[in-house]
Amino acid sequence: MKKPFVTKEMIEEIVKKYPTPFHIYDEKGIRENARALYKAFSWNKGYKEYFAVKATPNPSILKILHEEGCGTDCSSLAELIMSEKSGIVDNDIMFSSNDTPAEEFIKCAELGGIINLDDITHVDFVYEALKDAKIKNPGSNGRMPKRMSCRFNPGGVFTLGASGEGFQVMDTPGDSKYGMTEEQIIEAYKRLHELGVEELGIHSFLASNTVTNEYYPTLAGILFELAVKIQKESGVKLSFINLSGGVGVPYEPDKEPNNIGIIGEGVHKKFDEILVPAGMGDTAIYTELGRFMLAPYGHLVTKAIHEKHIYKEYIGVDACAANLMRPAMYGAYHHITVLGKEDAPADHVYDVTGSLCENNDKFAIDRKLPKIDKGDYLVIHDAGAHGHSMGYNYNGRLWSAELLLREDGSVVQIRRPETIEDYFATIENYWDVV
Ligand SMILES: *Cc1c(COP(=O)(O)O)cnc(C)c1O
Repeated sequence: MKKPFVTKEMIEEIVKKYPTPFHIYDEKGIRENARALYKAFSWNKGYKEYFAVKATPNPSILKILHEEGCGTDCSSLAELIMSEKSGIVDNDIMFSSNDTPAEEFIKCAELGGIINLDDITHVDFVYEALKDAKIKNPGSNGRMPKRMSCRFNPGGVFTLGASGEGFQVMDTPGDSKYGMTEEQIIEAYKRLHELGVEELGIHSFLASNTVTNEYYPTLAGILFELAVKIQKESGVKLSFINLSGGVGVPYEPDKEPNNIGIIGEGVHKKFDEILVPAGMGDTAIYTELGRFMLAPYGHLVTKAIHEKHIYKEYIGVDACAANLMRPAMYGAYHHITVLGKEDAPADHVYDVTGSLCENNDKFAIDRKLPKIDKGDYLVIHDAGAHGHSMGYNYNGRLWSAELLLREDGSVVQIRRPETIEDYFATIENYWDVV
């Protein structure tokens, strides 16, 4: 069963200051989970988690994770600047972008971060882009950063588990726009080495939201073997191997969560089998988790403001898909708890809707829930990653606030809600243009 980290009494207190809807994050849960992750990989001396900023781009969240030892995985100029302003720079930045404008590579190099190249053509693109840049941590020829990485795409179809019962995980790297082929990546390493890059790494992201303890070990096996091959064929010894994101969370209440301890041990075993015998036992392991770090530790809290009885039973809430897009966009399940009715029987069937003029603006469809009354507060679970960050302004809906439940039980606002003035700011001087 999913249990919210807030109670009805807490929310009734919080809304006196911060009205619904809002996202709220649980500092204690975030820290405990980050510590469990570091413990699971403590066998690896250079281990580091680079939190995927796009999942929850908020400086307070980045700082909490930084205190737990995490860096940032950025994918855009804005995310690089957020990392910088949060005091996270140098080797604590991984820049895993794609289709990247030159100015963003320059910004990363000026911050001393690690550029992770998505394509072989970007080797020369970056070399050219950095011509006049002030590279903070330069490599041996001064023209390229000291540490860089390349993204690998094995192509084909990636599956885990038996096909008989339906694969546990299935994804199609062959259809994905990211990364380089094996041939290209070996070429890229040779060239980067020639250009004075001293420490090189490999990165790959094969499947998203995997809820199985086998994903990371399987991916690690593929990348470790490739790292050995790269050393044989190009003479380049990789310094770090980045398993990227993709370790997921169970959104459904009856699904078994990943066990990060077992995952860490699974990667350890592959490391000992493949890298250690090849003399590569000093390779650092990196991860770039987003969802696993934050999803369970964020709730979208919303109030029931209408009920409607037509061909189905509807509960209208004061949040909408602009606050949490996943149900509308992916048909994703997000568990809902009606605060104060945690133990009441789920003997009603509702569609829980937002206000957008889009019929897919439903947080739940045909969901069994306790009887909901107007004024009830609903917690929408697992909204801590790819939640607020995927917000948008459709229908003139505004971005909600983000709150943080501190370890001492106090609540602070870490992003104010958007105002009507914010919404109009980009057209404020244009009322009379045509
Ligand atoms: C989105 C993303 C991540 C994080 O993915 P999660 O599924 O949230 O763990 C990590 N690395 C890259 C390059 C990404 O695009």
